[in-house]
Amino acid sequence: MSEKRTEINDLGEFGLIDHLNKKVIIKNSSTLKGIGDDAAVIEAGNMVKVVTTDLLVEGVHFDLSYAPLPHLGFKAVAVNVSDVAAMNAVPKQITVSIALSNRFSVEAIDALYEGIHAACEHYGVDLIGGDTTASRSGLVISVTAIGEAKPEQISYRSGAKENDILCVTGDLGAALVGLQILEREKEVFLANPDMKPDLGKYTIITARQLKPDARVDIIHELREMDVIPTSMIDISDGLASEIFHICKASGVGATIYEDKLPIDKQTFDTAVELNLDPITCVMNGGEDYELLFTIDQNDFEKLEKHPDIHFIGHITKSEEGKFLVTKSGTAVQIKAQGWKHF
Ligand code: ADP
Ligand code: MG
Repeated sequence: MSEKRTEINDLGEFGLIDHLNKKVIIKNSSTLKGIGDDAAVIEAGNMVKVVTTDLLVEGVHFDLSYAPLPHLGFKAVAVNVSDVAAMNAVPKQITVSIALSNRFSVEAIDALYEGIHAACEHYGVDLIGGDTTASRSGLVISVTAIGEAKPEQISYRSGAKENDILCVTGDLGAALVGLQILEREKEVFLANPDMKPDLGKYTIITARQLKPDARVDIIHELREMDVIPTSMIDISDGLASEIFHICKASGVGATIYEDKLPIDKQTFDTAVELNLDPITCVMNGGEDYELLFTIDQNDFEKLEKHPDIHFIGHITKSEEGKFLVTKSGTAVQIKAQGWKHF
């Protein structure tokens, strides 16, 4: 008799999380939000705390042949701080846990922590603890970030409503195109170790892959402009995937416009050089760590002139679906193709 075996791939990452979530029963009234958003939300006096954690695994999330250790340390903090920002909260503390083999020297760990400290400085967070253990299969880094907000300031994925405006910060697709360049130069180097990688032309996009910056600046600016997004998520898996998350959590549809999508010139030119469709890079490229959020139409004037916030479309009724209107005016259904890790 054979026991039933379901492949993780059959569920996918999000299916697996839904599957695990089914067995969770919240017991404490201070748990305001558990699984299902960028961070959990916990009552703490007059304020709320948000908590999020992310795991970076060598060979899956980073490649030490081109990721410098200080950059990696910075990125491990930034990706967590980004999830705090995605709740419209301000990051305050982090813990850092590492698993490492004897392949790493004290100097290598110092280099990793140089980046972690730089990120703590940059985001104004305190390193308050963690764990250290041995690993037999490469470096593993887990960071937990804690942030703070007033209860009414929190933006969940679930608050988008019909006619809200969809906004995106910065530009998209750079981290994916940067990764393609790093992989290409690695192949060139492996084939001929005497060749020095020539990355000069690609500095913006490779930096976006190796050392992304979480948009905490935008959270502070939204406060100054007195705008609370009706919903928000950070762009870690690609714009299409994050639009799906907001639409699913909020029970709405969305229409976005190709000519409104922000793409940097270096990203565009390099995508073309690599025979990649720039719009596919924007829609499905991962790891940009920009913010996707919705605002009430009444708040549009407050943000209208912001140089780094782009208005890419609007929220529709759920039954209207999710569409990208191309430059020629054709509406194409959006497909979510986040990265598959399994
Ligand atoms: P993000 O991309 O914003 O980091 P994820 O897709 O990793 O978010 O996670 C979505 C939600 O699922 C979050 O609330 C996260 O805490 C939760 N989650 C992810 N993995 C697990 C797990 N193994 N057990 C419980 N909750 C999980
Ligand atoms: Mg997130």
